Amino acid sequence: MDFSYPLFQIPFVGYYLIFLAFLFGAVFASFITCTAWRVVRHEDWMLGHSHCDTCGHELSTADLFPIISYIALKGKCRYCGSKVPPRDLIFEIILGVLFAATLALHGTVDAAVIAALALEMLLLGLSLADWDSGVIPDGFLAAILIVWIITVGFRQDIQRFAVEGLIASLALGLLMALATAITGKIMKTKVSYGPTKLAMCLMLFLGFKGSVIAVGVAIILGVIFVIAARAKKRKISLAPAISIGFVAAFLVKDILALIAV
Ligand SMILES: [Zn+2]
Repeated sequence: MDFSYPLFQIPFVGYYLIFLAFLFGAVFASFITCTAWRVVRHEDWMLGHSHCDTCGHELSTADLFPIISYIALKGKCRYCGSKVPPRDLIFEIILGVLFAATLALHGTVDAAVIAALALEMLLLGLSLADWDSGVIPDGFLAAILIVWIITVGFRQDIQRFAVEGLIASLALGLLMALATAITGKIMKTKVSYGPTKLAMCLMLFLGFKGSVIAVGVAIILGVIFVIAARAKKRKISLAPAISIGFVAAFLVKDILALIAV
């Protein structure tokens, strides 16, 4: 199975695929925000219908089109007229743009880009779950590991990719775990190893160079997030910082490859 061909060789097809990637991003954002919401509230995430948060009315298919439903219903519930927060709409647009940008920068449809899109979706879900509950659910980490195992099978440089990923993950992960433990001792607080586990899962994909970029961005954002959380007296959630760092590292790799060509 070979999906790879230069995206812009036939211009129309390239733009069409990028538009399609945007739509997929919006649809998957809608799915994953709902999943994260259910995981945080310990509801069944596979079954069950979506319902309005205010009146509890079950939502029909027509209410669940990403972006379009929100605009058509002017951001209100069809049944009770209460305002629906624009949060979901914003994440649908963000993941749509991210999917489109990832595909456009990567330039081909291959296993690597499909893995990246799957990861971006999972990162959005676990970031939202962490933001709402202060915990990164293990189920999302397991899903990331499954994506990695599948990706390994598709790589031509299987040994280099798998070995470098494992070494980067173990070495940098150990450093992060140490830093977390020391921070806990100094601050005399209970610390969570969730962010370390998440970073370790992601570094499997990046190898050393990418991991250093990702961790660097994540540390800078993490410090900003911690200061902001303290000021607002809310729970600290580091998953969004780590997620942004990882996505930045993946995109930077493709941007550098474009410049090199
Ligand atoms: Zn309602």
